[in-house]
Amino acid sequence: MHDQVKDSLAGKHAIITGGGSGIGASIADKLDELGAHISLMGRTEKTLRQKSSHLSNTQTIPADVTDDRSVRQAFARAQENFGPVSILINSAGLAASAPFARTDNRLWSSMLNVNLNAVFYCCREALPAMQESNWGRIINIVSVAGLKGYAYVAAYCASKHGAIGLTRSLAIETAKTGITVNAICPGYTDTEMLHGAIDHIIDKTGMERGQVQDQLKTNNPQKRFIRPAEVAAAVAWLCLPGSESVTAQALPIAGGEIM
Ligand code: NAD
Repeated sequence: MHDQVKDSLAGKHAIITGGGSGIGASIADKLDELGAHISLMGRTEKTLRQKSSHLSNTQTIPADVTDDRSVRQAFARAQENFGPVSILINSAGLAASAPFARTDNRLWSSMLNVNLNAVFYCCREALPAMQESNWGRIINIVSVAGLKGYAYVAAYCASKHGAIGLTRSLAIETAKTGITVNAICPGYTDTEMLHGAIDHIIDKTGMERGQVQDQLKTNNPQKRFIRPAEVAAAVAWLCLPGSESVTAQALPIAGGEIM
């Protein structure tokens, strides 16, 4: 990589939630390449350590992002070591499916807690430092399920639609500052979360793995799963110079799926 691009995020402190796997881990790799200091936040310190051992400037911060107290403590700890946060990537999330009639309060709350409330808690902790320096990038990893409805995932869809609403409102509120707030909306992406969803469908329907994979790929006109690195590339673009006027957007990374 060209040196100028390589160090373009030098001096920036990026906090990545759900950084121990999948899309979050891929974003950590990308922002590390660009020279950022990275705080990987997640529930299991051991996993975070394993995922971050090859990164240059990184620290691991255990936190349950559904617990506002845990989030507050984690942000304080992260900023104590690496200074004020300038980039926040909300990638922590869970996906559970059930027919609407079998969506109980527990499932409903668990989706809203991790996919929406946690985004609120983390944005709230990150914002003061960004306002102080008049520069910030908040990028919420949402989903195409934040832009349209899908069967059997009402709770997940509702939480992701909420995260897009939060993104758009916060973006307008901060528009006169140097802070941008955007959502990235991947289609099915090749991570543990997708593998779990495939296992669940096999378990419920008895379908063959290949058949399930083909069915999930039909939503994507390119007939494939998204690669985590493709999501990370979009995140990098939103952090790099040149994207200052891009805010309040919900960008699908979904091979042309019509929203
Ligand atoms: P993943 O399961 O690999 O990563 C999610 C991470 O969030 C995990 O590391 C998990 O431990 C962490 N997490 C969950 N609950 C947490 C909590 N309470 N506190 C802290 N961390 C917690 O899956 P992924 O595909 O990388 O998902 C990342 C984001 O992308 C999620 O928000 C997901 O909804 C979204 N997304 C994924 C897909 C897909 O097909 N994989 C598609 C669209 C959107």
